[in-house]
Amino acid sequence: VEVELTSSAVRGGVRIGILAPHRRLATYIAASSALGLVSIALVLIVTPWASMFAQVVVWPAAFLAVAAIAGEVKPLVVSTRAQERTLSTSAPFVLALIAVTGVGIAVLVQVIASLADDLHQRRAVKKSLFNTAQYALSVLGAGAVYAWLTDASFRGGPTVVEPRDIGPLLVAGLAMFGVNWLLVAGVVALSMTQRLASVLRADLRDFLVTNAVLLSVGGLAAVVAADGVGALALLGAPVVAVHLFASATARHAHDATHDALTGLGNRGQVAYELSRALEAARRSKTEGPGLVLLDLDHFKDFNDTLGHPVGDRILREVAGRLADAVPEGTFVHRTGGDEFAVVVSGGLGASRRVALDLLSSFDWPVPVESLELLVQASLGVAVAPDHGSDGETLMKNADIALYQAKIERDMISIYSPEFDVNTVERLQLLADLRTAIDEKALYVAYQPQVDLDSGRTVGVEALVRWDHPVRGPIGPEEFIPLAENSGLIYPLTAFVLDTALGQVARWRGAGHDLRIAVNLSARHLSDPVLPDLVAGTAAIHEVPLSALVLEVTETGILADATRTDVVIRALRQRGVAVSIDDYGTGNASLGYLQRLEIDELKIDRSFVSNIGTDSHDLIIVRSTIELALALGLRVVAEGIEDEPTTKALREFGGVIGQGYHLGRPVAPAEIKARLEAEKRAAAGPSEHA
Ligand code: C2E
Ligand code: MG
Ligand code: MG
Repeated sequence: VEVELTSSAVRGGVRIGILAPHRRLATYIAASSALGLVSIALVLIVTPWASMFAQVVVWPAAFLAVAAIAGEVKPLVVSTRAQERTLSTSAPFVLALIAVTGVGIAVLVQVIASLADDLHQRRAVKKSLFNTAQYALSVLGAGAVYAWLTDASFRGGPTVVEPRDIGPLLVAGLAMFGVNWLLVAGVVALSMTQRLASVLRADLRDFLVTNAVLLSVGGLAAVVAADGVGALALLGAPVVAVHLFASATARHAHDATHDALTGLGNRGQVAYELSRALEAARRSKTEGPGLVLLDLDHFKDFNDTLGHPVGDRILREVAGRLADAVPEGTFVHRTGGDEFAVVVSGGLGASRRVALDLLSSFDWPVPVESLELLVQASLGVAVAPDHGSDGETLMKNADIALYQAKIERDMISIYSPEFDVNTVERLQLLADLRTAIDEKALYVAYQPQVDLDSGRTVGVEALVRWDHPVRGPIGPEEFIPLAENSGLIYPLTAFVLDTALGQVARWRGAGHDLRIAVNLSARHLSDPVLPDLVAGTAAIHEVPLSALVLEVTETGILADATRTDVVIRALRQRGVAVSIDDYGTGNASLGYLQRLEIDELKIDRSFVSNIGTDSHDLIIVRSTIELALALGLRVVAEGIEDEPTTKALREFGGVIGQGYHLGRPVAPAEIKARLEAEKRAAAGPSEHA
């Protein structure tokens, strides 16, 4: 049975939180309530009210009653690491009332105080009945013990408390806490299906000290009551002091464990919750807990382009949405800049559900000023005991899963041991890549683009290369995604742009009129400074921007269409040509070709390389070429691997070809040799003449 039990408030003992429907629990609560109500009725009947009111010292009794009710309605806030609890200070005054006015008035005051608090908190009737009943029973228990240990009669009237009565009163106080504690612990044990002893033990530690203080105040109050209200009022000072102290401590504890920006718990809270949940799962021999880590995608971009105040607003909005998305009793913590964590009590299924719910918080955009920002996140999940049986391992593995989710763009990734090897390798590779960029250990290869009509090389595509010192050559397919996920893509692209433009400047200087194509990652298209970077680099090398082609993929353009449009327009205004790379592999429709402002289409090699054998591909390629040419676009066919393909494409007319058959990606010297040979061939007859 799943039970929701919110923090249990304490009254020198405990108050129950939300009760779940549970047969044994329901019986237990009904029986306790009934017993309590019958006892209250009996006490009210047997108390000799008339004679008692005649003897009672009115003002001290009234003072104690008011103090008890106030202490119940306005409890102390006590903060432990686990939770925030409230602690009522009514107990010492009710205890004093038992001695000073007799048990009848004490029970009456307690019932009024308890009902007043329940009303104030709008507690459900069933809960209120139980609370009232168990408080009354505690007071009765204390009254019985006090009567038994002193010569006061149980149902009797007021007495003057002598110093020798303090001992018995303290024992009576213990009895009061004891009864309250047992009754409530029974509820907790039944609803959480825990052993009673372990529930008792958990509370004993937390509240022994506080209860001792409250008991002492109760003893003092009873003794000084005879001296009148003035003496009692003096006791107010320590109680108020405790209030102030407790609330300051609570605030301090809150600040130390919570994040100031979002109000969520911090990293320390996660570790603490995790260790508690691990222990609970071990005790009850159940699966779990699960740890869900969430990291916003490209949050740094928001921060950099929109400013930190906007970044903070996004974080606060996201924090609120996440907190709303988790089930009752589950908490979201902020563990770092844009990273959040949730400890899920439950196994893989429960953790996955929580992860999905968290992810759905990003379904609608975050409104910031006039913008609607589409924020996205990746999540990693690790669940005990399969993915680790201690907090540290779970943290590490959830982190690895998160990393995996980022790389695979999976959104949610559940930890799997094989990630480990992969991840360590990737982390190493990422570190190596950073050094490679810093030390310019990357280089650029150039693949010719040939005008199929004339056979002349009209352009080259710059393709980045990396000779890893240990692993040898590594393809861009492997390290570009790493760079994209880590932000290294910015220096990498800057390096390729600079190298490629420098190179094409030399070829052009030698009289070869040639275009250079450079690949861009999707992330660049939402980078408003890209057009300036491109223009600046071209200016340094004195290359006209019309000689530059920037290749982007369809998915890159469609991902964030409004921002992409701005960047693409700015590039084209400066004269840079924009090309759609790998055309046909994304999910864009033909219709968007018309809307988009682009200059060139590169038909993906998966269509091109089959046109000799596959008539469908041939039809697709032919109609795409016709459409693109009709729209005034330049067409490049990628991945030409043999002569029949070249021939077929040449027959369409107006197509530029690129592929191993026409020339592999090579070093600049080879391109130079090729260009010179072409020039000689063109000038051929006259030169020999
Ligand atoms: P891409 O832009 O589509 O580049 C063409 C890829 O196809 C290159 O692989 C090229 O070597 C390969 N290729 C060329 N002709 C043929 C052929 O006839 N048959 C076959 N099977 N393949 C052919 P490469 O160099 O491994 O690059 C792979 C991808 O990595 C590129 O695809 C591009 O998306 C990315 N990339 C390469 N350099 C950069 C760069 O500097 N920046 C960014 N952002 N991405 C890059
Ligand atoms: Mg390309
Ligand atoms: Mg391509």
